[in-house]
Amino acid sequence: MTSDDLIRARGLRKSYATATSSQQVLSGIDLDIAAGEFVVVLGRSGSGKSTLLNLLGAMDRPTEGQLTIGGQRVDRLDEAGRTLFRRRHVGFVFQAFNLIPTLTVSENLRLPLELNGLDADADDRIAGYLERLGLADKTDRYPEQLSGGEQQRVAVARALVHEPSLLVADEPTGNLDLETGREVLALLDRMTREAGKTLVMATHSPEVIGIADRVLTIRDGRIQASSS
Ligand code: ADP
Ligand code: MG
Repeated sequence: MTSDDLIRARGLRKSYATATSSQQVLSGIDLDIAAGEFVVVLGRSGSGKSTLLNLLGAMDRPTEGQLTIGGQRVDRLDEAGRTLFRRRHVGFVFQAFNLIPTLTVSENLRLPLELNGLDADADDRIAGYLERLGLADKTDRYPEQLSGGEQQRVAVARALVHEPSLLVADEPTGNLDLETGREVLALLDRMTREAGKTLVMATHSPEVIGIADRVLTIRDGRIQASSS
């Protein structure tokens, strides 16, 4: 791990156990990701992309192996520790947008700031993001009053507004039509780079391969190939 690496994973394994059996989904992932890097994770459905992203985003805990993010041993954190870690250091963008339906656009953006005790300049920050996203006139709308593309733009802003070091995006264009998906990708790429953040994205979208810094493919529980 160089001083420029944000993420270092060694021998990461993840198994899911049911009452009768256990399935090993990741069987030894070694991975370094530099601060500011944009890495795409490919792999067929069921190959473990979401499982890997959930480990990197501290949503879930590896069965075995070491995971260091920003110098912190995330694999050693318990659930409460992971919640605090995520809140401060990670932003998520999901396929299904996952905005909170009972909160307006600006309230959705305010939530990660409040959770981090960053409410001092919250109004200005939120207004700045909505302006850059072309959503200034949608501030007081509820998610269901927005198109899918607009909801995902809000979700991108929500993932960045508290300035986490890592953005995790799990098939962020999966519910969008091609053109809208392209717009959201361009936005995610531009805003993440402007902010100097690290982006790890699972996707099926071939366009992403061109704009990413590195493409990883998961197969049989391992990272099969790496290209730059
Ligand atoms: P992908 O995102 O590449 O489609 P996933 O990481 O979602 O793949 O799933 C990989 C495998 O792990 C699948 O076989 C899936 O059924 C299994 N899996 C994922 N999450 C769970 C879970 N919470 N419990 C049990 N099995 C799971
Ligand atoms: Mg998935």
